[in-house]
Amino acid sequence: MIVVSSIKTLRHKLATARAIGTVGFVPTMGALHDGHLSLMKRAKKECDFLIVSLFVNPLQFGPKEDFKAYPRTASQDRKKARSAEVDLLWLPTEKMLFSPDFQTSIEVGSITHLWEGASRPNHFKGVTTIVGKLLQIVRPDFFYLGQKDYQQCCVIRQMLRDLHFETRLHICPTLREQDGLAMSSRNTRLSAQKREIAPVFYHALQTAKKSVQSGEKKTKNILQAAKSILDATKDIQLDYLALCDTITLLPIDRIKNRAVLLVSGNLGEVRLIDNILLKVPSAPNKS
Ligand code: AMP
Repeated sequence: MIVVSSIKTLRHKLATARAIGTVGFVPTMGALHDGHLSLMKRAKKECDFLIVSLFVNPLQFGPKEDFKAYPRTASQDRKKARSAEVDLLWLPTEKMLFSPDFQTSIEVGSITHLWEGASRPNHFKGVTTIVGKLLQIVRPDFFYLGQKDYQQCCVIRQMLRDLHFETRLHICPTLREQDGLAMSSRNTRLSAQKREIAPVFYHALQTAKKSVQSGEKKTKNILQAAKSILDATKDIQLDYLALCDTITLLPIDRIKNRAVLLVSGNLGEVRLIDNILLKVPSAPNKS
């Protein structure tokens, strides 16, 4: 595994890789876990050369958020990246990516004001600005994101379309702990007591799924099924629980065919998000 920091060296290595085959890219903020590794494994299968970046992006954290407390585990990350057969690990520094006179941002429109965006102003502007910059430097053929951050996937997909990026986006399934909690770098910040409670988000999503599978189509009832699980747990400060169109993320009244259920809340200091894709069961065959 090649480990580089400077953009110039990176470009040089990438030019050689590109001449040989396809380049796949997995951007991360480090504190790697099996969810990140699943993206890398998929990319490794589909591409000739795999590049992974580790960069805790200051632009996407609000002033009261956990930028400083965000877990940083550089040496373990290197070992994990090597185990996932990453070809090139890129460790840019803040100085390399942001010159002192940096003044250009990428801002996607209305979809960024919903849900996560409503509670975290400028979060998505920070995400799209850094992802746009990383893509502009790496110029991968394929680019891998996790469904775990569903709204982020939708926002980035919109940016790729609007700005005519040539890279092809692949969205990979959410990896979970045995008890259902979606893997996240932030999980390590949960106290033992909060960690025990945390899978309740998953249970709420599963309850909604069961309600749809048993024929429920009205949003009100589907949300109520999920909410009854969340309400039974003290200590959760629910931010949103919303049944939405899978592309626009606008709320819907009824599920016609497919929908996404988004949830977010705080467990103490730690913000957790999760989601599930819901599908109306197909009508039984009459023949
Ligand atoms: P992060 O380091 O949190 O910015 O995540 C880097 C990438 O890994 C993003 O595309 C995330 O959506 C993805 N990711 C994070 N957690 C998971 C998970 N549990 N399963 C699959 N992908 C994930």
